Amino acid sequence: MIASTRRIAACALAAALCLFLCFGLSAVSAAKASPASRPVVVLDAGHGGIDPGVVGTDTGVRESELNLSVVKILEELFAEAGFCVVLTRTGAGGLYGLPVGSCKQRDMQARRRIIEESRPNIVLSIHQNTFPADRSRRGGQVFYRQGDAAARTLAEGIQRQLNALGGGRYEPLAGDYYVLNCTRYTSVIVECGFLSNPQEEALLCTEGYRRSLARAVFYGALAFFA
Ligand SMILES: [Zn+2]
Repeated sequence: MIASTRRIAACALAAALCLFLCFGLSAVSAAKASPASRPVVVLDAGHGGIDPGVVGTDTGVRESELNLSVVKILEELFAEAGFCVVLTRTGAGGLYGLPVGSCKQRDMQARRRIIEESRPNIVLSIHQNTFPADRSRRGGQVFYRQGDAAARTLAEGIQRQLNALGGGRYEPLAGDYYVLNCTRYTSVIVECGFLSNPQEEALLCTEGYRRSLARAVFYGALAFFA
């Protein structure tokens, strides 16, 4: 009971932080169900602002835009399922404030703070991949922190669903990334697809495919709670 109450308080804190960070960066979905029973998910749309991430080889689409689009669909799915949903960013901007100095460092530290204050059950950091050396490579790839059994289980559930989309057949991989290591919470990175693959880039540019992707990630994450 105490832990659940803390979680909801943390959601409120995260919301206050978003308002304070005036670049429209973070939000919490409104509560509907009983607060005591609601798990918390942090959805992290990678990159943003002056950092576009990888860029589509053929269309020039920015990873940061695709990440946010997938996160917005995930936000709807998780909120409808009764989760308390926290977003690290809700707009096109990054979390670094003014575009001066060590933007990337401030951006990543802001994401860590939001995760810490939200006390989430899971963190899903959404990205897109690229591998120009082999443009045939495609499909979703999930990363978890080495030695984190819970994160591996979460990653396996999501990877299974992504593989079912038909783009590729991968195992989840251990990865040494800041967003996985910066807190003790169960965190995975979801690389949704390869912007260096022409067919996948075209698919990622469609709302319908992004919805299919988001549903795959959502159902994969739900398996973790089952
Ligand atoms: Zn990325």
